[in-house]
Amino acid sequence: MAFELPALPWAEDALEPAYSARTVSFHYGKHHKAYVDKLNELTAGTDLEGKSLEDVVAAVAGKADKQAVFNNAAQVWNHTFFWHSMTPGGGGRPSGDLAEQIDCTWGNYDQFVAAFKAAAVGRFGSGWVWLVADNGELKITSTANAEMPAGEGVKPLLTCDVWEHAYYLDYQNRRPDFVQAFFDSLVDWGFAAKNLGG
Ligand code: MN
Repeated sequence: MAFELPALPWAEDALEPAYSARTVSFHYGKHHKAYVDKLNELTAGTDLEGKSLEDVVAAVAGKADKQAVFNNAAQVWNHTFFWHSMTPGGGGRPSGDLAEQIDCTWGNYDQFVAAFKAAAVGRFGSGWVWLVADNGELKITSTANAEMPAGEGVKPLLTCDVWEHAYYLDYQNRRPDFVQAFFDSLVDWGFAAKNLGG
């Protein structure tokens, strides 16, 4: 069975105005779809055909001759995780355990957002910024291109896509403004809390 483009968890215009329908239309309908199509093309007729997306990523990670498969498979996974990291009416402060752990790790929520923004600005070129639980300890990490957080006991909680295609139509070159909007209006803390607890 071929890999499929997963449905968005909300309508294309549901994140307006912080994340426009036009951006979603291109980012999901063109970029995310292209990774799915390319992955199907690269895996058709190989022993990777019919495996789950996670199994494909695991099978090809770190293999130089499978870099293209990894890039496309990981980008399919990363984008699906990114869509779920945002929700209509999202943004603002988390609550519960997650809020306590953020305060404990970064001092307060504003310092956490500043650190996340610094990681986004510090990612030269294309990539992703993640909030992860690393064996129970919250950390901000950034990855290049299609890479995802790896390592024993490392669990992604949420991610922000900092490829230029993720924000250019709405924010042009202003990556920090996009990341600020991500936390002010878009982030789904419920998704992060579910990932932390699950
Ligand atoms: Mn993207």
